[in-house]
Amino acid sequence: MSNADLLRRSLAAVWHPCTQMKQHTHDLPLVPVVRGEGLWLYDADGRRYLDAISSWWVNLFGHCNPRINAALADQLGKLEHVILAGFTHEPVVQLSERLSALTGGALGHCFYASDGASATEIALKMSFHYWQNRGRTPKREFVALAGGYHGETVGALAVTDVAIFRDAYAPLIRAAHVVPSPDARQAGPGETAVDVARRAAAALEAFLEAEHERIAALIVEPLVQGAAGMAMHDPEYLRLARALCDRFEVHLICDEIAVGCGRSGTFFAHEQASIRPDFLCLSKGISGGYLPLSVVLTTDTVYAAFYDDATVKGFLHSHSYTGNALACRAALATLDIFEADDVLVQNQARGDRLEALLAPLAAHEKVRHFRRRGMILAFDVDADPGFGRRFYREALARELLLRPMGNTVYFMPPYILGDNDADFLAAGASAALEAALQ
Ligand SMILES: *Cc1c(COP(=O)(O)O)cnc(C)c1O
Repeated sequence: MSNADLLRRSLAAVWHPCTQMKQHTHDLPLVPVVRGEGLWLYDADGRRYLDAISSWWVNLFGHCNPRINAALADQLGKLEHVILAGFTHEPVVQLSERLSALTGGALGHCFYASDGASATEIALKMSFHYWQNRGRTPKREFVALAGGYHGETVGALAVTDVAIFRDAYAPLIRAAHVVPSPDARQAGPGETAVDVARRAAAALEAFLEAEHERIAALIVEPLVQGAAGMAMHDPEYLRLARALCDRFEVHLICDEIAVGCGRSGTFFAHEQASIRPDFLCLSKGISGGYLPLSVVLTTDTVYAAFYDDATVKGFLHSHSYTGNALACRAALATLDIFEADDVLVQNQARGDRLEALLAPLAAHEKVRHFRRRGMILAFDVDADPGFGRRFYREALARELLLRPMGNTVYFMPPYILGDNDADFLAAGASAALEAALQ
């Protein structure tokens, strides 16, 4: 299909996500893509875009990665999918063992689904059901952080505090309790990120002191609250939250759907606080950005509460594509690349270099709160509400896919960004900022 064909037919037949479709008739471009290679996406005329947000934070090692492609081609010749109730297969077993090993064995039981919101739902249902099975029936409510995002199904929206996604559906939702975010941007004069973290933890403590009898779990995005606008906090918050959850007998759910798989600098973000959650949700990067896959890891203690002669004490939740063999194989190939290429070490240098290249931009008079955690870099821009849309268009005009959230510009590149790519990205982002501020 030509570019024009693709656009015309897409607008007629495809209802695009997270989009007011009418905007595609005037100021919001729709971009046709026919091919991807490494960092780059190409249209039918050979126009290209550097995917600096990893296609909504999922792609870790570039498009059409030869190693992941080869693993999938091999898997296609063996088994594409099989029901996971009553049946099992090698990729799902290997993936479960390897993920468990990455938690030091602390989270040894893996439950699979196909997307992030479903992983959130599974963690919430498992936590609730755990307390029911243990006879602690009043524990059936959840606590979430201000600005938290955990997906957009009706259950996941209950613990999501992002107005634009939640408010239209408020009457459908059994909203969770919301406690203050440890977002370091709230630091007052002379305050550090640790001070803000301690203040937020004190609010959590006061809340749990009063309400813990009816609270099943606290859910957090460790270190970076993505959809809140890459709001970053100090690991001190996670240490204190873990201690409070222990003291008040409340589960800690770490939603690492966005920050897991090396994005925060360590393989899991919670490692930076030297803690383990009771539930760990992974998705997005887990399959290298190839296939829909999510997984919830949990402890022996949780698992044991469901292991019973009574069927109804089991976790009967299911999705048709649970543990899909192709998706698990893509995840295994992704983990192989982490090991073979010493990715976490390489990313340290990659992130340092991009941060240094963006230093002039960080010092720009309209830029506020330039921040970084691992391979996530972000800043806020002091501009009118139309800025984000203008920046998006100006970035596309400079062959960059960068998609601000509100007035927050962020970079979440695949872990294959080379020196020249980083130069190109920093120069283009700078020029796009100037153009969008006009
Ligand atoms: C993207 C995301 C989700 C939801 O994942 P989907 O696959 O889009 O349903 C949940 N939590 C966090 C932190 C996310 O970034």
